[in-house]
Amino acid sequence: MIIKPRTFPPDIVHLEILKHRLQLHHPAVAQVEETLSAMKAGWIGEQSLDFHLDYLKGPHYILHNLRLHDGHHYFQIDTIILFPSFILILEAKNMTGQISIRREKKEMRRDMEGFQDPVEQAERQKRLLDEWLWRQLRIRMPIDFLVVFTNRRCTLEFDSSDSRIYEKVIRASSLVDVMKKKKDNYQGKAFKKEELLRIGQALAESHQDHVPDYMKRFNLSYLDLLKGVRCPSCGKYAMRRTKMKWVCPGCSHHSSLAHEQALREYAVLVAKTISNKEARDFLKVGSRHVVYRLLSAYCKGRSGSTKKARFLLE
Ligand SMILES: [Zn+2]
Repeated sequence: MIIKPRTFPPDIVHLEILKHRLQLHHPAVAQVEETLSAMKAGWIGEQSLDFHLDYLKGPHYILHNLRLHDGHHYFQIDTIILFPSFILILEAKNMTGQISIRREKKEMRRDMEGFQDPVEQAERQKRLLDEWLWRQLRIRMPIDFLVVFTNRRCTLEFDSSDSRIYEKVIRASSLVDVMKKKKDNYQGKAFKKEELLRIGQALAESHQDHVPDYMKRFNLSYLDLLKGVRCPSCGKYAMRRTKMKWVCPGCSHHSSLAHEQALREYAVLVAKTISNKEARDFLKVGSRHVVYRLLSAYCKGRSGSTKKARFLLE
């Protein structure tokens, strides 16, 4: 049973918005695109695990995309499976090419690129989850992990003399068999179904969503963004406001609500509130009265006095 389903990563939505709001040749575009394609690959890889997880038999509870607080920092886990006798962490990697995992150096390499050692990453998740379960629920339960490479177009090599690495880093195609073996190995105390469910619910309730401030991460400010209302038909930031609607001078597309997407984008990239003056600048509309009407109809509320009013965008 799935207690916490996989949800589409809001990071991808935010990065798509940011990418569209940057000039084509802005120096940050390459970085944004790189992050975006890594996120998309990660999402596809995680999703592809579901096919294999469908074959799981016996009592178990699954939680996807957990972000928990350990008392000092947050830590994230792709997938957790609660079995009666142990907990299994799955760390999905959707990478192509020749991957080499160098345990001694605690790194993973693909050609000239270096990445964090995924085994070390999963070991850290295991340690933090163990501490979390004890601190929050006074529960000690064996925790195991698997780093699962989901893309067939990769070759894996290890420099480790430790043969147990082959039980920790696997391909998705062997996930079902490896999980079965692990289940047979853990024969200690078995938690009842209700207890497992309680643990799963406590984990799900403690999850906290978070999307990083990508503007800050890429060192961007409001001045880097393209302003205006995007034409839903041709994609240009060129919509002009006539009396009652938006019209695109490029393709003549008409829309009455095209500004709403622009305001959603402003909330993601700039701030959760906007003044009349800021909205005039961002939507490229000259009239204070027109902008007042648009904001009053769209926004859920506002704060401050008439002149200094800030409209709430979320
Ligand atoms: Zn257009």
